[in-house]
Formats: sequence, structure tokens, C-alpha cells
Amino acid sequence: MPSARLLATTNAVAFLVAANAKIDIRSLQFQELEDKVREFGEPLYRARQIADWLYQKRVQSFDEMTDLPQEFRSRLAEQFDFSKSAIVRVLGSHDTTRKFLLRLNDESLIETVLIPASPALYGSRSDRRTICVSTQVGCAYGCKFCASGLDGFSRNLKPNEIVDQIIAVERETGEKIDNIVFMGMGEPLANFENMMRAIRIINAPWGLGIGARHITVSTSGLAPQIRKLADEPLQIRLAISLHGATDAVRNQIMPINRRYNVETLLAVCDYYASRKKQRLTFEYILIAGVNDVDEQARALARHAKRLSAKVNLIPYNTVHGLVWSRPAQDRQEKFLSILREHGVAATLRREKGHDIDAACGQLRLQTKRELETASS
Ligand code: SAH
Ligand code: SF4
Repeated sequence: MPSARLLATTNAVAFLVAANAKIDIRSLQFQELEDKVREFGEPLYRARQIADWLYQKRVQSFDEMTDLPQEFRSRLAEQFDFSKSAIVRVLGSHDTTRKFLLRLNDESLIETVLIPASPALYGSRSDRRTICVSTQVGCAYGCKFCASGLDGFSRNLKPNEIVDQIIAVERETGEKIDNIVFMGMGEPLANFENMMRAIRIINAPWGLGIGARHITVSTSGLAPQIRKLADEPLQIRLAISLHGATDAVRNQIMPINRRYNVETLLAVCDYYASRKKQRLTFEYILIAGVNDVDEQARALARHAKRLSAKVNLIPYNTVHGLVWSRPAQDRQEKFLSILREHGVAATLRREKGHDIDAACGQLRLQTKRELETASS
């Protein structure tokens, strides 16, 4: 008779199998690896060996797991996928933000961004390398300023496709990444289960071993899932893409606000803050004539103080085909100074390299168009 715990994990695997036919070996948690090993009649230490091959030695096939019996490797290969994400394009240089375009097994294109030593944001010290990972192909939330939703939503990324962005970029650059932000393409909280699986693998000592306080999840404001994340034991950081301090402004640019308005969002943020040690961050893109007036800065300051949140101001990056623009430098500085006058910890992004640091998803759209043109 299997124990309740075993049954629970077995059911989780059964669910994944049903949803995706063959699942990728790198979507499994350690306990699930152990269950599989046991099911195959192998000694339990094999689970540790497999995890070691996957996340320490980082092989790309079962065949390379040379200390496993050949017969066991074949059975693993029969049951599990071992998909590859290929880096097909890199933009940027060694000392600036670099963007990587990855092609997944089904030819979907996603984007991952490597940010070099940067100001102390999202748990990152200045000597930390931060990676910005995608969680979906496209995005269904249709924020009016963002490139990721322009092409609609295709699918959720699987846990291994999320983790593999980190592994692929480390392999390509030879650099060790120690800070992760879920701020690439897609809405992480709309892919909650796969995101959490990926986070557990990223965090676990048998996985990538990156501390929870160096993992930041960004959301456009899915209130019920924020509550769910608050109830997770891991001390993950949360960033809220606010971009408007009142319903009137937020409704104009973020359709999600009609489902969960500013007060609903702040209330659930109160709950999150009460459960976690780390402070929340509000991200706020400054868009000329839309959300950059003094009154918005004052309302934003009130929200930030209520939650003891930090504010990260981001001058709008031009997205091809969209009408918005960033405010003049003095307007950006004024907005920042109002926040600071109210005692809010706020930063304004001024770094170099913003020529390629446009909204996530742009590189994908550009390449997609080129591929379509080439094949027509
Ligand atoms: N869907 C989640 C995670 C993606 S994060 C979220 O919205 O939080 C993507 C980040 O890039 C968000 O903070 C988003 O607001 C920001 N962004 C999108 N378009 C942008 C643009 N044109 N200029 C600057 N930042 C942009
Ligand atoms: Fe999606 Fe976030 Fe872009 Fe909005 S800002 S469209 S939620 S990726």
C-alpha cells in the first residue's frame, strides 16, 4: 500500500503524464525521481546520481549518465523526454544586458535576458548576475504597452523549459547566475504549478541551489494566485507590475485591472507582506502623458508606504507598433523625487544598453517576422 505522500506525488506525475504524454525528466522533483527509481527496482541512491547528472554535470542525454546501468538508462529514455532548448540568437555584449533567443523542441521561440552586475534590485547585490526568465510563449494579458502580448498567447512553458533557460545561458556564457527574476515573456502566476515546480528545482540543493531570496516573481496582479504564492513556504520575493496608481489609469493600460482592481490587489499584497520577510517591489513603467503626473506619484507613494514596498521606476522602452513614449528626463526625475520626499525607497533605471533592453518579447517578434519573410 503506498503512503499518502507517495500517492500524492505519484498522482502529480500521473497528472503531468496525462497532460503532456511523455514528460521531461527535468520536470520531476527529487521525491518523484526516487519514486521512479523504486518503481524500476533500482537502489534509491540512483535518484541522487540522476539529479547529479542533470543539474551538476548537466548532461544532455541519458546516454551520458555513464554510471547508470545501460538497461536502466534505456528504460528512462523510454519513459521520459530529454528536450533541448537551443540558443539561436544573442544580442548585446559581454558587459551589457544580453538577450538570448531560445528555440524549444516544438519550434516555439522564447526570450531570456542576462543582466550583468546591476544596482541592488530584486535581492541582487552589485556583484550578482541576474537572469530574467520567460514562463509562457506569448502572453494572454494584453497590457497595452508590452510586446509580449502582441502576438497573443501560445502555451505555458513546462518546468524543464523554465529551468533550462538558466542552464542554457550558463553553458553559453560560462558565467554563474545567482539571481533569478521571473520577468520575461508571459505571466508567471498564470502558469502557477509549472512555475512552482521550476522554482523548487532552481532552489533545491539537489537542483541549482539558488536561495529563495534570490528568486523574484513578477506579476501583473493575479490576486488569487498572489495569495497562493503567499501560502507557499519558500521566501520568494514578489514584484508587482503596477504601472498605474489608480483604477482610472490602470484600467487604461492593463486589462487585468478590470478583474482585480487596485484595492483588491493591494489587499492581497498586504497578505503577502504579512507572510514573507522580504519587502515587495512595485514596478512602474513611466509612460509620457499616461501615468507620469505628480498625482500618480503621490498615490503610488501612499501604496508603497502602506506595504513598505520599494519602487522601481522604468522609463518606457519603445515597442515597434505601439504609440507610447517615455517622459523627458526631468519628468522622470521629478516623479522619483516625489516618491523620495514621501520617504519611499525608489530607484529610476538609468543603465546603459537600453537599446537592446526593450520589452521582453521584442526579439522574438522580430525574429519571427524575419523567419516568416524568409519562408514566404
Ligand atoms: N507578466 C509579468 C511578468 C513579465 S514582467 C508582469 O507583467 O509582471 C515584464 C516586465 O516588463 C513587466 O514589469 C512589464 O511591465 C515590463 N514591460 C513590459 N513592456 C515594457 C516596455 N515597453 N518598457 C519597459 N518595461 C516593459
Ligand atoms: Fe503579459 Fe506582463 Fe506583458 Fe502584461 S506586462 S502583457 S502581463 S508579460
